[in-house]
Amino acid sequence: MAAALFARLAPAWQAALNAGIGAYLASDAVPIGAVVTDVAGEILSVGANDAESSPLAHAETRALRDLPRAADDTGAILFTTLEPCPMCVGAIRLARLSRAHYAARDPAAGSLDLLQADELMRDLGCESVGPDDEVMEAVIVALVTESRQRRGQLRWRAEWLAYHRHAVRVGIRLAERGARADWISRSASAAEVFDAAALILGGRTAAAG
Ligand SMILES: [Zn+2]
Repeated sequence: MAAALFARLAPAWQAALNAGIGAYLASDAVPIGAVVTDVAGEILSVGANDAESSPLAHAETRALRDLPRAADDTGAILFTTLEPCPMCVGAIRLARLSRAHYAARDPAAGSLDLLQADELMRDLGCESVGPDDEVMEAVIVALVTESRQRRGQLRWRAEWLAYHRHAVRVGIRLAERGARADWISRSASAAEVFDAAALILGGRTAAAG
């Protein structure tokens, strides 16, 4: 059984996934979550994507906005389930984070290379790290694909297929079979949704698709 897959993830990743998948189940948000920790790993703030309410309400900007002011300049670290967009990379720089971990590559909107764009972006030496875990990346790609496919948001799909073929195909199948409605009817937790998607993905990586 794949039941232990979620449980083996680091606490920061579990919190980011709980936020993103929780919002996906509760309000049909695209499942993206982010947390900011201090250097010791203590969670300082959490954010879930809420782009339906505002195009600026990304998981990362929401977590960074709620960061306690005292955390400024302490080398805080972001963990986000999807590679950040250009707006969020700018926010990461302005929040003076020391590192940004991302779980899944986003070949359409992911913009972490902007951390090297010019002197302003480079001067604090914020490091980007990812993807951290093959299974986590595939699960996130499958769930984000399910959400976008079900709503007919298909503009991103060719780029995502080129990077994550197997996981995107699984996500399309999840949308076709009504997986989200099924998870809601069974009151599945974020951890259970993660493990169910991992089981369906069968442990195969995107590259193997
Ligand atoms: Zn963003």
